Amino acid sequence: MKKFIFATNNPHKLEEIRQLVKNEFIILSLSDVGFNIDIPEDFDSLQENALQKARIVHQMTGLDCFADDTGLEIDALDKRPGVNSARYAGPECNSEKNIRKVLKELGDTPFRSARFKTIIALILNNKEFLFEGIVEGEIIYEKHGLFGFGYDPIFRPEHHLVTFAEMSAEDKNRISHRGKAVEKLIKFLRNSM
Ligand code: IMP
Repeated sequence: MKKFIFATNNPHKLEEIRQLVKNEFIILSLSDVGFNIDIPEDFDSLQENALQKARIVHQMTGLDCFADDTGLEIDALDKRPGVNSARYAGPECNSEKNIRKVLKELGDTPFRSARFKTIIALILNNKEFLFEGIVEGEIIYEKHGLFGFGYDPIFRPEHHLVTFAEMSAEDKNRISHRGKAVEKLIKFLRNSM
């Protein structure tokens, strides 16, 4: 079976992607191939960050691989945290602190539209390809739900009554930014094999 390295050590992302890929391909994480490195995400765009991660892993292993970068764009915050979503509350931050900062900045404004955007960069047979997934929604006023990770407890996708953190992994995958980008990636891989 065809193997790909997914340039991440985030167990939530790995689980989400493995669920979508099912038994079609083998997805190895960085630690599965013995790399315990933290690849910097220091560009100003999701696309450049995803490409940088994929290129570094490809250079180190010579294997086909893909990497993702995700950002949460909140309209009332001029699209912040965006590409800085992971480090929004500063270098020592965590999801809890990032969420607190977002909720504080939004205050009680009713203008809470937002979207998650994922870019996946794939390197296959030494060529680069990009896939995008977007989910529209809104930031609610307080945290709801215990599943998922990151900003999931405050993001309610459009046409839904619950946050990502109140959904099963399967339901989130069906509509999420990463789910949509991975669907495009899988279709592309099926047609390329
Ligand atoms: P990354 O750089 O792709 O790992 O994503 C940047 C940050 O966005 C992460 O640290 C999370 O806080 C957040 N994030 C990424 N994907 C998701 C998601 O599916 N749900 C909630 N937050 C996410």
